[in-house]
Amino acid sequence: MRQTNNVRLMTQALHADLQPMFEIVKQVNPGHQEFQQAVYEVMLSIAPLAGSRPEYAQWSILKRICEPERQIIFRVPWVTDDGKVEINRGYRVEFNSALGPYKGGLRFHPSVNLSIIKFLGFEQTFKNSLTGMPIGGGKGGSNFDPKGKSDAEIMRFCQSFMTELYRHIGEYTDVPAGDIGVGGREIGYLFGQYKRITNRWEAGVITGKGLTWGGAQVRTEATGYGTVYFAQEMLATRGDSFDGKRVVISGSGNVAIYAVEKAQQFGAKVIAVSDSNGYVVDEAGIDLELLKDVKERRRERLSAYVEERPSARLSVHGSIWDIPCDVALPCATQNEILGHHAKKLVENGVQLVAEGSNMPTDPEGIAIFQDAKILYAPGKASNAGGVATSALEMQQNASRDSWSFEYTDNHLRGIMRGIHDTCIETAETYGQPGDYVAGANLAGYIKVADAMVAQGVI
Ligand code: GLU
Repeated sequence: MRQTNNVRLMTQALHADLQPMFEIVKQVNPGHQEFQQAVYEVMLSIAPLAGSRPEYAQWSILKRICEPERQIIFRVPWVTDDGKVEINRGYRVEFNSALGPYKGGLRFHPSVNLSIIKFLGFEQTFKNSLTGMPIGGGKGGSNFDPKGKSDAEIMRFCQSFMTELYRHIGEYTDVPAGDIGVGGREIGYLFGQYKRITNRWEAGVITGKGLTWGGAQVRTEATGYGTVYFAQEMLATRGDSFDGKRVVISGSGNVAIYAVEKAQQFGAKVIAVSDSNGYVVDEAGIDLELLKDVKERRRERLSAYVEERPSARLSVHGSIWDIPCDVALPCATQNEILGHHAKKLVENGVQLVAEGSNMPTDPEGIAIFQDAKILYAPGKASNAGGVATSALEMQQNASRDSWSFEYTDNHLRGIMRGIHDTCIETAETYGQPGDYVAGANLAGYIKVADAMVAQGVI
């Protein structure tokens, strides 16, 4: 996992009305760099509301929106296969419930801390608002490292984690799902433990379930597919498409794999993917079946891909963003594109960057993409397909229905088109045509803020 020390905050000054509020956020959240960064990015965009929506100031919306409604931190004890007792820290940050029950994934990764979970919960609030579905924002996880753990250890960890979490969640309260390190296997163990403790078969308590026990078609593919659908809409605004494009996709987890799949279906040539050990360049085009076999079935490193693929080489020097490409889809983690990476991508002629991961580009990198006038979409818009499909899963669970793959995929595509158009229209309304960052932040914020005004001071 990349360190975030080189992140450059405050590359642009905030609106004078908002700066004091940002100072308070820094004071109240000392050292929480990722959270401060996420807040700063939203504050940069919402300046036009300072004059036009006086009720937001009157009701202290910004101050309230930056403070999570509830933060839960707990001990997670578990036993290794050889009988050692281990302790990890568990988190659930219930950020905002103006639009619906808290909704957002769980991340299991050694880098997890309160700053990371708060930034993710904050982002999730506006992302979920953009989907147009009735879901609030939340996020959770643990500093547990699933790497190298046996299946039985993963199960015991998940059971212990849920033994505390169960009392905080529910169909109408808070609905977790997956994120980095939490996929179908973990959701199964978490759901099983919830069911055992509560004696309730409550499908709507968690999303990302297996297809035979309440899960939704397309949920596994949704974040990656959705990112490519969104990027396709962006290209279409310039009369262009994925056909024949050279595409670089960071990561090799669930989001990256299904971004590769959809980009290839749209006629693109995907030439690189990565994991925490390095990046693979495959000029013959990524072999998707081999990638799935290595990552999904065997749970191995990308070095195994390279061993079986003569056209591929593994690089541990430089960065995946040094590779010249037309389209870059960061699908790994936060702050994976710093200013100098963005500069390199622009120098090499990148035309479009759409984020599949959460906050992968630092503020300096965002400013570079925007100055270069390339097509650039922030994750809270372009990666919203995952959580939107979770909301479709909740909808099916509530009506005890089960939709086909094609029907669900069409729904997802329509939702991504809707988010795209909302971003474009909102950016235009506020005098920043073509600015997806302004469009996403303003549209996401206004909907949450209006609901908070309506619901009073709570
Ligand atoms: N972790 C995903 C995200 O960042 C999905 C969350 C969900 O499905 O609730 O949006």
